[in-house]
Amino acid sequence: SHVLVCGGTGCTSSGSEQIIKTLEGELEKTGLQNEIKVIKTGCFGLCALGPIMIVYPEGAFYSMVKPEDIPEIVSEHLLKGRIVTRLLYQETVTEDTIKSLNHTDFYKKQKRVALKNCGVIDPENINEYIAYDGYQALGKVLTEMTPEQVIDTIKASGLRGRGGAGFPTGLKWSFAAKNDADQKYVCCNADEGDPGAFMDRSILEGDPNVLIEAMTIAGYAIGASQGYVYVRAEYPIAVKRLQIAIGEAREMGFLGKDIFGSGFDFDLDIRLGAGAFVCGEETALMTSIEGKRGEPRPRPPFPAEKGLFGKPSVLNNVETYANIPQIILNGPEWFSSMGTEKSKGTKVFALGGKINNTGLVEVPMGTTLRTIIEEIGGGIPGGKKFKAAQTGGPSGGCIPAEHMDIEIDYDNLLSIGSMMGSGGLIVMDEDTCMVDIAKFFLEFTVDESCGKCTPCRIGTKRMYEILDKISKGKATMQDIDRLEKLAHYIKDNALCGLGQTAPNPVLSTLHFFRDEYVAHIVEKR
Ligand code: SF4
Repeated sequence: SHVLVCGGTGCTSSGSEQIIKTLEGELEKTGLQNEIKVIKTGCFGLCALGPIMIVYPEGAFYSMVKPEDIPEIVSEHLLKGRIVTRLLYQETVTEDTIKSLNHTDFYKKQKRVALKNCGVIDPENINEYIAYDGYQALGKVLTEMTPEQVIDTIKASGLRGRGGAGFPTGLKWSFAAKNDADQKYVCCNADEGDPGAFMDRSILEGDPNVLIEAMTIAGYAIGASQGYVYVRAEYPIAVKRLQIAIGEAREMGFLGKDIFGSGFDFDLDIRLGAGAFVCGEETALMTSIEGKRGEPRPRPPFPAEKGLFGKPSVLNNVETYANIPQIILNGPEWFSSMGTEKSKGTKVFALGGKINNTGLVEVPMGTTLRTIIEEIGGGIPGGKKFKAAQTGGPSGGCIPAEHMDIEIDYDNLLSIGSMMGSGGLIVMDEDTCMVDIAKFFLEFTVDESCGKCTPCRIGTKRMYEILDKISKGKATMQDIDRLEKLAHYIKDNALCGLGQTAPNPVLSTLHFFRDEYVAHIVEKR
């Protein structure tokens, strides 16, 4: 018998460390400490109901567990085999965690690919990853496939970058593979700066080995021997687990010289970011790894040609990499059978804002916003009406109620002026002021602008001032026109993605909720 307790950041903040301590103390008191293993896992996704615990062999999924509940769980469930039904989250009793979760409202429409092992394994024990097919894809790649075959497989899967713009991953790898150089690099963007986004953090916390395996596969595919994971220093649990995983992978021979006796060498190091949003932009991230001030560089040249330290490099985010081993093992057709015509596979969303089940969800591409909000998310608290959902964070836009049945994929979101971004999904109810939302995101970009180019450095400030005037009821109709003009100007002229997308929240709220902007002006006249 064993017990899984969520040790992700969400449950840690709702007290799971204390739960583990109390549980271990209680097991000792009852003499069960050697019989029952307590495993601290990564995120289960249902952060709103943390701390979460699953007790085996029955697979009972307990939510909102308090330290006071532990003696009852031990004396009733672990000693006498009687499930504590008052703590159960819906019908969740089977020996197979995933099957059991699939019966619940929160999980039944989800499909866990990138999050496959999160909440299931002990992320600080490489043997558990191996027991769930870990490092088999790397073994297959190094012993049975050529680098070209690996790239062709990723291309055929249709995988697109999960970090924002959705560039085809296989194509990106093929560009770097083509460029000859004495040294190439594989990088991972784990900077995740969007407010409300925590997909990459959860994968690192729950399944760090998947990243190591995928980056090593990418290294083989493009001919790189060194990788860097750029992760924000504000993610201490993720950093610690990744460090442990890298150490274990080196010991087991999955990193280092002559991996699997194939003659292929690859190693991985971590670089900590100091929390600058612009360092999530690929050229700024590489500049930062080089030890310089994290500012974007003009492209071309693109990183596939001249990236980190001027050498050909690929950069993908954590979620993109988390799909790679399963594509290799299950085949590209398996992956491309999920999703829509141009967006294959699944997408992880961090569900936040005015929604009952805040947390992490993974759904096939093409799932409607309505399904995510009403079924998986459990609707809006207090029976309030849905007003809009913001995707793509400060670079994205909002989706109003009239588009709730939109099938979410890269292209559909772009067609209504939003974007996938990295996967933050913030829900707003009828009480939310859309001018305030636009102001919130713009304040963030003004703060995070690196200052290198004028449209972004000065332009976003001016936009913020106008928005501030509008929200305080001091603006005129001309101010709304000026705001719109300036937004288009910045979009067209800023140097990097941060500035080019900064006006999106304003443009999208102006498009769908112009009457709210106008109301701020009319009201005060
Ligand atoms: Fe820096 Fe903004 Fe210009 Fe990007 S757009 S280079 S963040 S000032």
